[in-house]
Amino acid sequence: VLLGNPVGHSLSPLMHNHAFRTLGLNWTYVPCLVEEEEIGSAISGLKGLSIKGANVTIPFKEKVIPFLDNLSDEAHIMKAVNTIVNKDGQLTGYNTDGMGFVRSLEELGVSPKGKSIAIIGTGGAAKGVAVALTYHQPKEIYIIYRSYEKAVALKETLAHSLANSIKLVSLASASELVSALTESQLLINTTPVGMYPKVDQEPIIKLKPKYRHLLVADLIYNPLETRLLQEAKKIGCQTLSGLGMFIHQGALAFELWTGHKAPIEAMKKTVLNSMALK
Ligand code: NAP
Repeated sequence: VLLGNPVGHSLSPLMHNHAFRTLGLNWTYVPCLVEEEEIGSAISGLKGLSIKGANVTIPFKEKVIPFLDNLSDEAHIMKAVNTIVNKDGQLTGYNTDGMGFVRSLEELGVSPKGKSIAIIGTGGAAKGVAVALTYHQPKEIYIIYRSYEKAVALKETLAHSLANSIKLVSLASASELVSALTESQLLINTTPVGMYPKVDQEPIIKLKPKYRHLLVADLIYNPLETRLLQEAKKIGCQTLSGLGMFIHQGALAFELWTGHKAPIEAMKKTVLNSMALK
């Protein structure tokens, strides 16, 4: 099931049901709209109904934690859960978002190991991606922020492994920005700027030809190519959309629930088809 509010727009049911059919598994994935005050009883319902697993989305990623029996390491560090596995009545919370991003990067043949990485934004998606990156020995992470307190909180979350290699960069400081973008090999936009329907919104960072060495990733997948990615391509950067992250976070959850290898290509195709129809 998918637990969230709202859930109607989500492509996860389509993606997972297609994956079950592709592998001939007699499973089904159902979106469930949960009222804010009912999240505890919704979680008990997973046990009561022997439901094998769940995805958790806004606004419950943090709120489900007190109702779970165990947390994986990354969910514990992030204090946010997007996947629950019910094994013999024991509920374990995982977070596959950030790992999904790393897998999509690896699909391009790129490893975070030894890289200097600049992340724009300090919200939930930034936290997921940054924590996952710390498991892959990057050289350093620049957190490009608008709100200082949130940047400090994110740095503290990452301190478990990279205490001296997290650098805070204010969007208001042109010189700090230039040095972060010059030093980095990978730039990741984790903000919603440029997301449908505001596709013409000015990107937060103006890319200049001197940054053509960057691989520019956007976590947004609607549109598939944001204005940031269009501008990056124009100056010759390699680019990565958020679609791969979405597919891989789902694939990792699928594997945790079913124990089967996820049919990635089939999942990607069905999501792309449904986006083309919209
Ligand atoms: P969030 O928790 O609300 O965080 C948004 C972040 O963006 C905040 O740090 C916010 O800064 C910053 N921001 C927003 N507008 C800004 C602006 N004009 N200038 C500077 N900073 C700005 O949201 P989220 O859950 O992290 O999601 C962010 C994006 O990631 C969404 O577009 C979502 O679709 C995408 N996402 C994609 C996937 C995937 O599977 N591909 C998964 C998760 C999320 P302040 O704190 O200063 O407001």
